[in-house]
Amino acid sequence: MDWKEEDTKILLEEMSRMYPAPECALEFGSLFQLLIAVILSAQTTDKQVNVVTKDLFRIYPDAASLAEADPSEVEQVIRRIGMYKTKAKNIIAAARMLMEEYGGEVPRDFDRLVKLPGVGRKTANVVLAVGCGVPAIPVDTHVFRVSNRIGIVSEKDVLKTELALMEALPEETWINMHHALIWHGRRICKARKPDCDICPVADICRYVRGD
Ligand code: SF4
Repeated sequence: MDWKEEDTKILLEEMSRMYPAPECALEFGSLFQLLIAVILSAQTTDKQVNVVTKDLFRIYPDAASLAEADPSEVEQVIRRIGMYKTKAKNIIAAARMLMEEYGGEVPRDFDRLVKLPGVGRKTANVVLAVGCGVPAIPVDTHVFRVSNRIGIVSEKDVLKTELALMEALPEETWINMHHALIWHGRRICKARKPDCDICPVADICRYVRGD
């Protein structure tokens, strides 16, 4: 059954009731630290990232210090997260590029962000949305799964999902809905076994209806 405007209204109401002030679970103290935390979060939980960034940001709080870092020392600090060798290489290279091209600042511009090592579309959108308040809907594994299950969109890949969500949802809701869909995916609409019995959007959910 096609998704209707009325369904969007119900979804937005329920999501803002369930997650009134949804926030990014990553811990950071600056736009630079947010960028690094998001690069590190690929295929790793935010919780694990927060554990390693506590030490990482104490030793390398900004682009200037990380640009000068010894790769093997950075590897040691972040070794508890997946793909730590590649990520160590990427965050040092990103810090160097920030120093060389942007005076140590993180550019608030999508096209420049995606040129940084280790930064893809999702990372750039998270930095812009969470760090700069620029309307965007970064699509991670939770946003992809939950939005396609509910039926707001019906897409096969993350880019199409992002574009379809931007089409389906009012711009002023993008950032909060990004966070809310992530929280919903973590708490209720889990990957292996969604808790549909306790889900407040089950009435409109296409996964439950079997549409
Ligand atoms: S009803 Fe089930 S599948 Fe639909 S959003 Fe809720 S938990 Fe996910």
